[in-house]
Amino acid sequence: MTTTIHNKFDLLLEQDPNHECEGFGKDKVCVRIVALAELPTRFGDFHIIAFENNRDGKEHVAITKGDVIGAKDVPVRLHSECLTGDAIGSLRCDCRDQLEASLTAIGKMDTGMVLYLRQEGRGIGLINKIRAYELQDDGLDTVEANIALGFRDDERDYAVAAHMLKSLKIDSVQLMTNNPKKINQLTQYGIEVAQRIPHIMDANEHNKFYLETKAAKSGHMIDFRGKQHLPEQSDRPYIKGMTEEQAIAIQE
Ligand SMILES: [Zn+2]
Ligand SMILES: [Zn+2]
Repeated sequence: MTTTIHNKFDLLLEQDPNHECEGFGKDKVCVRIVALAELPTRFGDFHIIAFENNRDGKEHVAITKGDVIGAKDVPVRLHSECLTGDAIGSLRCDCRDQLEASLTAIGKMDTGMVLYLRQEGRGIGLINKIRAYELQDDGLDTVEANIALGFRDDERDYAVAAHMLKSLKIDSVQLMTNNPKKINQLTQYGIEVAQRIPHIMDANEHNKFYLETKAAKSGHMIDFRGKQHLPEQSDRPYIKGMTEEQAIAIQE
């Protein structure tokens, strides 16, 4: 770690734990940085920055590469937590592929970060997500499982992400996403999205399955019994080797 980065981190840890503001978004979320450490990973050497949250106590983290504090046009990926996918490697979704692709890409960059947002199961939590899986195992489709559990369609909110970026003194980003909605939300909360970096994943044996089913079933996540799953990341994956048609389909 260079002296500059070290000094900036020291300053953040000195000042931010006392931070207080009106909050971001409709839920008035205010977050503050409370802990920070080095995090060597299989994807590269990162730092992990932990945020405390005034609203629901959720512990969000930023996984940062290089000298990002106060930097301009920082490459950023927003990832919503998925325990079953990220940690266990579930093939009911493609969350782990998306997370690994972003960490691999950012690990090779000079600067960048993944904001790991604790909105498990599209914000409804782990238990409800598993209930939805259960309903789908029993034969309900995505929409029916949604209704049965009283799901909202997709109310994931990126106000927290915007505040986290502000806490890191970042006003402008290059967003790694295939999803224009994420760009709109961040912009709305005062973060300039200077550029979009397409989030392209290398094909591997797991997302090859996904790609094939997507190709066959026009953009929906289908399991091996032929049932649809709820998308857990709001980005549709873009896998290297997709046809132009498939690539266009994920933008819609
Ligand atoms: Zn605040
Ligand atoms: Zn998932």
